[in-house]
Amino acid sequence: MTATETTVEQHPATRAVHVSAPRPEHSQPLSVPIYQAANFAFEDPDALADSMERPDGPFVYSRYGNPTIRALERAVADLEGGVAAIATASGMGAINSVLLATLNAGDHVIAQDCLYGGTYASLRDLAARFGVEVTFVPGDDPAEVAAAVRPNSRMLYLETIANPVTKVVDLPAFLAAGERAGLMTIVDNTFATPLLCQPIRLGADAVVHSATKYLGGHSDVIGGIVVLAEEQRYRHTWHHAMELGACADPFAAWLTIRGLHTLPLRIREQCANARVLADRLAGHPAVESVRWPGRIDHPDHQVAARHLADYGAIVAFELAGGREAGHALGKRVRLAKLAGSLGGVETTLLHPASTSHRQLDPEALRAAGIGEGTVRLSVGVEHVEDLWADLARALPR
Ligand SMILES: *Cc1c(COP(=O)(O)O)cnc(C)c1O
Repeated sequence: MTATETTVEQHPATRAVHVSAPRPEHSQPLSVPIYQAANFAFEDPDALADSMERPDGPFVYSRYGNPTIRALERAVADLEGGVAAIATASGMGAINSVLLATLNAGDHVIAQDCLYGGTYASLRDLAARFGVEVTFVPGDDPAEVAAAVRPNSRMLYLETIANPVTKVVDLPAFLAAGERAGLMTIVDNTFATPLLCQPIRLGADAVVHSATKYLGGHSDVIGGIVVLAEEQRYRHTWHHAMELGACADPFAAWLTIRGLHTLPLRIREQCANARVLADRLAGHPAVESVRWPGRIDHPDHQVAARHLADYGAIVAFELAGGREAGHALGKRVRLAKLAGSLGGVETTLLHPASTSHRQLDPEALRAAGIGEGTVRLSVGVEHVEDLWADLARALPR
């Protein structure tokens, strides 16, 4: 029934509540509609009962599933080569959904030691509170996996390109080692995006993203997503994610879809800009060394050349002037913005030793792979000459 049919017999209090949009019959919206709905109404009670049991039933409640969120999930699952995906409220929501869906008390996790800080904290917390054992490995040699395996090992956790020193593990070799040991393999593909690498195609069981970074790409949305390689694992993970309640919001999913449309364009431009800036930084007298996987002086360049379609837009460099120089650079840049996060269309930089890691002494910094003068640059889509002019002016002479 429409509101107009009922104006005669129903009162304003009723008509004000029951408003419906026309269903387009002869045309379709060109963009994905935002279904900002918590709840869905049914005509058939059996269909309602069915919808609560499975991820691919009718939409019933947006914590279980939502058409806008599903559009994002399908798009990312397709790009990553998975069977299905679960969009979440944040990258950490995605990571914790998959950790909590998979791990039992007493399980053992093998993880790369150079991990996103939040992931490291979650693993540490699980270890301390739920008796999950964690072994961190350097990620240099796949034999590290066999050496770390225990009877209770259940998961291998890796990142395609790891922060802040842009470490690139040999994914096919590590994933094969994980599979031989019977581990569930999970790869955080945030820095690479499915445009540069599809870990599921290289053998991973699941991929996680902070959609906040490149998938969204405009520094205006917090989101995450888990992509599963296989149907049973998807249903299992969906069930736990739905119980955990870290679900995405339809509007956040819509913003991420909008970001996704230009992901290939942004990534192409950002990688090209990163190449120019990495090379110019390497030639600058104030810069001691540059870490960008596309440069042949990067320790993982050969691995990156084999498994990545391009080398990403994160450039780490070490200033000869150490902590003071890093701090000063952050104050002197104008176009590049000093910011904690990354992956947007705008160029951002971070000097970990004076900001995110300021509580660490030089030794602890080194253990984390960070120098006192390390700067992490997240290269955006601005014109590269404007970016270089900004950096060249801000760098010590
Ligand atoms: C930012 C980030 C996360 C966490 O994502 P949020 O959206 O901030 O929760 C996880 N992994 C990597 C590699 C990240 O860069």
